[in-house]
Amino acid sequence: MYFGEIPKLVMSNFQDKTVIITGGSRGIGKACCLAFARAGANIAFTYNNSANDASLLGDEIKKLGVGCIPFKANVRDYNRCRDVVRETVDNFGKLDILINNAGITKDKALVMMPIADWTDVVDTNLGGIFNMTRAAITTFLKQKEGCIINMSSISGISGLPRQTNYSASKAGIIGFSKSLAKEVAAYNVRVNVVCPGYINTDMVNALQENMRNEILKNIPLKRMGASSEVADLCLFLASNKASYITGEVIKIDGGLAV
Ligand code: NDP
Repeated sequence: MYFGEIPKLVMSNFQDKTVIITGGSRGIGKACCLAFARAGANIAFTYNNSANDASLLGDEIKKLGVGCIPFKANVRDYNRCRDVVRETVDNFGKLDILINNAGITKDKALVMMPIADWTDVVDTNLGGIFNMTRAAITTFLKQKEGCIINMSSISGISGLPRQTNYSASKAGIIGFSKSLAKEVAAYNVRVNVVCPGYINTDMVNALQENMRNEILKNIPLKRMGASSEVADLCLFLASNKASYITGEVIKIDGGLAV
């Protein structure tokens, strides 16, 4: 019997890798930026409004000894997404990983939902993923290598009341990703989906306390997730330890959707 040390799960080194992360200024995106930077990757991240947060994060990442470009870029603007990809590749020489994380909620019962709330959520969450992925895909195909991780949600699998716009956008991401995974697999480009449950970020902190308590009762692990836990899953999916995983939809929800 072997009583030696159990080998730790060693994450692949991301030195000389380049990652684009949308919505990097806060929450899960920020945790991904820091996790990949600590693993040695050069980071390009986008933000929409949070210029101050983005600037502070940019400085924090550079102190880790890797390159970092914060881009003010609305993912709804296709031309701006193209700029982000072009400038990232010009600066770092290539693109290895795209994490489509930017997203918003505008929850309301359908009977009360203004058309603008439908359009804003679908155009940002699903349209944004089309825009960034469309802008980056040629680079990946030419390199014959790439990894795309799309941030969906449990809401896109199970549906949640008052989230018809959000659930539709997040379910759309799953269909988009499965289709693309089959389309680009022959070019050694992998596409996977991460579906968080409730993660402690501004998005979830905006919920009323009684609603948060109600949610906690239904989570088998009895707590919200941390952004860093989602970032760790992204690190794994982007690493060569996940080299045979594509077209997958992976929940990270403390057992909520079991
Ligand atoms: P946050 O609200 O904390 O952060 C959202 C990020 O997206 C910010 O960096 C924001 O930039 C950026 N963003 C929003 N709209 C745009 C836009 N039009 N263009 C570019 N960037 C934009 O969200 P979370 O970290 O909680 O969520 C991240 C992702 O994870 C989202 O896709 C969300 O749907 C998904 N998710 C989150 C869950 C959770 O429990 N937190 C659960 C399931 C899924 P800025 O700061 O500049 O506005």
